[in-house]
Amino acid sequence: MTDRPMLTTTAGAPWPDNQNSESAGARGPVLIQDYQLIEKLAHQNRERIPERVVHAKGSGAYGTFTVTNDLAKYTRAKIFGEVGKKTEFLLRFSTVAGERGAADAERDVRGFAVKFYTDEGNWDLVGNNTPVFFIRDPMKFPDFIRTQKRHPRSNMRSATAMWDFWSNSPESLHQVTILFSDRGLPQGYGHMNGYGSHTYSLWNDAGERYWVKFHFKTLDGHKYWTNDEGNAVIAVDRESAQRDLFDKVEAGNGPSWRVCVQIMPELDADKTSYNPFDVTKVWPHGEYPLIEVGIAKLDRNPDHYFAEIEQASFSPSNIVPGIGFSPDKMLQGRIFAYADAHRYRIGTHYEALPVNRPKSVVNTYHADGSMRFDAPKGTDAYYEPNSFNGPFEVKSAQEPPLRISGDAARYDHRVGNDDYGQVRALFRILGAEQQQRMFGNIAAAMQGVPQFIVDRQLGHFAKVDPAYAAGVSAALAKAALPANSDPVSASDDMKPVAAAAE
Ligand code: NDP
Repeated sequence: MTDRPMLTTTAGAPWPDNQNSESAGARGPVLIQDYQLIEKLAHQNRERIPERVVHAKGSGAYGTFTVTNDLAKYTRAKIFGEVGKKTEFLLRFSTVAGERGAADAERDVRGFAVKFYTDEGNWDLVGNNTPVFFIRDPMKFPDFIRTQKRHPRSNMRSATAMWDFWSNSPESLHQVTILFSDRGLPQGYGHMNGYGSHTYSLWNDAGERYWVKFHFKTLDGHKYWTNDEGNAVIAVDRESAQRDLFDKVEAGNGPSWRVCVQIMPELDADKTSYNPFDVTKVWPHGEYPLIEVGIAKLDRNPDHYFAEIEQASFSPSNIVPGIGFSPDKMLQGRIFAYADAHRYRIGTHYEALPVNRPKSVVNTYHADGSMRFDAPKGTDAYYEPNSFNGPFEVKSAQEPPLRISGDAARYDHRVGNDDYGQVRALFRILGAEQQQRMFGNIAAAMQGVPQFIVDRQLGHFAKVDPAYAAGVSAALAKAALPANSDPVSASDDMKPVAAAAE
């Protein structure tokens, strides 16, 4: 007898031989009755699920959020109800464009997706390490992501596609500037801020609504690599951010963030000089200062990467009473798209998986479907409304109605957007040295891009600040990379069209 656990089939029967397949005599073929062999091969064929179309390469850990300053005045959400309140969360970081095996130390936006397991259900804050995004309308999202992925013919990333799209979409300038500044290549996930990016709302028991932005400020300090440093890291370690995160959490030294909010009274939204629901804009701190609400610290590694991180399913649609959406169009698009992605990648009942399951009670009338593995009690109450004491709607969880004007010109993003002013403020914050590094980063990323596209983009930089365009032009003149390193730019089809948006 031994105290090692016994090997079994998936049906639980003890298994005698896991080294040799079963054949008909020494020279005979393998028998079809060797169902354990067949099951092993079949299982291996099914070990992958579709990788995420964006944010495919990721790492994650669990943590604890502790309230240091309650928000009870603004919201009935229990997670913010009292000082000292602790809530467990899962945080998944990622790069955006690369596939599942991409190297970590690449210049890219980082995903910063948090699932808070609150007393009243899961609240997912699915953001990035940047406060803004490249586009403000979900109609443009599939096209934008296509430019970040592989060219359909060459199967290579295309700098031409990226700059063609960006230069035709001036709302991207703010995020492009952050991406090519120092913050576009963080030294690991603990050394960067996280942002909810979108505007959400908070509402209290008195039916008052406030708009809110969430900020996670690194307590481990900002640290970034230059392009050359990042390339040197990739040459020896493609998993630099995963390794850094895992080792720090394992050693009890997980990264932490100061969690802050900006709060805007509901009707201010009609008055601000910018549309506060435009995700290409920030709310200036001078107008809406940061208010600390708590500390978020990572303290536990998952036991199984696939079960807990690859299958982790975050969606901006997961809100809890006291937290609501806003008219931010990109947020509205993501409310649909994220849950839809999980139903496709994982299956109908993806939220019943242990990593996704709320710690609070779940009572729905959703019925059958693939992987339904829990059996709801109360057999007669399987529809609603019913007379058999089935789960019933909670009227007090109804958020207050919107009171803002609904002015289409203001909130539909079609008129009056200034895509340059906030970028100008950032450009000046960067200072001379970081500006120089950014010019070089942009020039390196533009190698091989047709001149008419470069010129269009330089036009946008000039509208931010003539020094921005001049700096990039000078860096382009100095860059010694081979012309036409982007194979797509050699295409005969690549000519300017009159309809370019300028
Ligand atoms: P502030 O001077 O009050 O704040 C400047 C902000 O810029 C800080 O949050 C700082 O982050 C951040 N920052 C510094 N370097 C970079 C960089 N390379 N990439 C991105 N962010 C950086 O200014 P305002 O609030 O008036 O905003 C001015 C500009 O600052 C905005 O137009 C926007 O581009 C940028 N910004 C503003 C944020 C906001 O929510 N108001 C958030 C982030 C950026 P930290 O404090 O962590 O150093």
